Amino acid sequence: MCGIVGITGIADVSFSIYYALYALQHRGQESAGIATFDTTSLCKHKGNGLVSEVFNGINLSSLEGTIGIGHVRYPTTGENRPENIQPFLFEFRNHSIAIAHNGNLVNYQDIRTYFEDKGQIFWSTSDTEIISKVITEEIRCGGSMDDAIRQCMHLLKGSYSVVIMIDGDLYAFRDPYGIRPLCFGRTTDGGFIVASESVAIDALGATLERDVCPGEMICVTKDGFRSRRFTDAEHKAHCIFEYIYFSRADSYVDGTLVYDVRRRIGGLISEEAPVEADAVCTVPDSGTAYAVGYSERSGIPYVECLIKNRYMGRTFIMPTQELREIAVRIKLNPISDHLRGKSIVLVDDSIVRGTTSRRIITIMRQAGAKEIHMRIGSPMITAPCYLGVDMPTRNELIGSRCGVEDVRNRITATTLHYISLDALVRSIGKPVSDLCTGCLTGKYPIEIRGEECESRPVDFVESDFQTSLFPVE
Ligand code: 5GP
Ligand code: MG
Repeated sequence: MCGIVGITGIADVSFSIYYALYALQHRGQESAGIATFDTTSLCKHKGNGLVSEVFNGINLSSLEGTIGIGHVRYPTTGENRPENIQPFLFEFRNHSIAIAHNGNLVNYQDIRTYFEDKGQIFWSTSDTEIISKVITEEIRCGGSMDDAIRQCMHLLKGSYSVVIMIDGDLYAFRDPYGIRPLCFGRTTDGGFIVASESVAIDALGATLERDVCPGEMICVTKDGFRSRRFTDAEHKAHCIFEYIYFSRADSYVDGTLVYDVRRRIGGLISEEAPVEADAVCTVPDSGTAYAVGYSERSGIPYVECLIKNRYMGRTFIMPTQELREIAVRIKLNPISDHLRGKSIVLVDDSIVRGTTSRRIITIMRQAGAKEIHMRIGSPMITAPCYLGVDMPTRNELIGSRCGVEDVRNRITATTLHYISLDALVRSIGKPVSDLCTGCLTGKYPIEIRGEECESRPVDFVESDFQTSLFPVE
């Protein structure tokens, strides 16, 4: 999982990209980077860590230009090594190019082998480098950027939302299923922004225009804004986990406010699994909108019983069990007065490994809670994600090994309920055929070796449409 942004037509663009990356920080904390183009050459700064760490002490003015792209990384394909930090920058013929990618290519190895057999070298283990090879190969053969992106849509299998800066032009495109999000908008001063989530557009005081469609390419060049679709619209597979966990609650993902989806889910969980209790409590922050919805529908008061330490940042990997327990306590402190002798409905978005849930329930019981009724905003996660979410293997997923009663027992909850897939899909408000439910059903929209595939073939039908968003002058 990663966050990407591209901005053009704004003075001192690096500052705007920096703020946009801040808004997308939740999508990746491993590394961050910005690349700009100052009309003759590329400027860049990237490194490991949070946006605030990577750009600490960096003079953003030195990243000159009115066009640039940025990236925050959460590793999927490729290890944590400096060569894998995005954006990727390179020169080809007389072009200066930078690429940032969110997603995961499942045919990475096949394409890499194809290029290696032709004598090409690779300097990273990231699948994003594959995209750069497809693009440069097309340019080498005399193709345009449109041709290169069409070629990507034909060759790349998996999820990809991509922004590319080539000289002074900005391109963005989304895979034919629209698995990972991507949207765009315009700033008050006539600039243009494309980003993983609408919160990055909000951060700049810009206006969300719409999502990039599955199989669509958009670009802003000296001729203005242009859009082109390479595939039909019929086979979307938006990632369901974006709604459950990954996207920020204040983002609009494919036209739907994520907060409202989570709140509706909370309401439906209370219908599916009502319980008598004294309070509804969230596991902050990911469970909050769900807990609000549960409380509204059930009439049980919403009371915060766990307070999150906002300065803890990423949870460090502690060497001993005892230190791990202390780490959880520093991150989440229970309010004993709200818990003592009480029956609590504890609401969270998902259970992945089950270890955090167990620790949280343990500290709540130690703080005096009598009963803990765990309610989960997603069905059981039973299968890995190959399409961009850093999800553990089947073995580590508690939901792939255990039934609900076994999970309840392991996390020591009084009762446990996961929302049904049907209610989840209703809360999102899109047909299930427009969603990727691989992690919940084990059926994936595209072919993955050794996994079951719900075939949704893509038709390549091309359409061009200009919009009046950026009139050609
Ligand atoms: P578990 O009980 O499975 O150890 O942890 C459940 C918690 O993990 C939930 O609060 C959920 O919000 C969080 N979670 C779900 N997916 C992810 C993820 O991809 N990364 C991180 N850091 N947390 C996640
Ligand atoms: Mg959480």
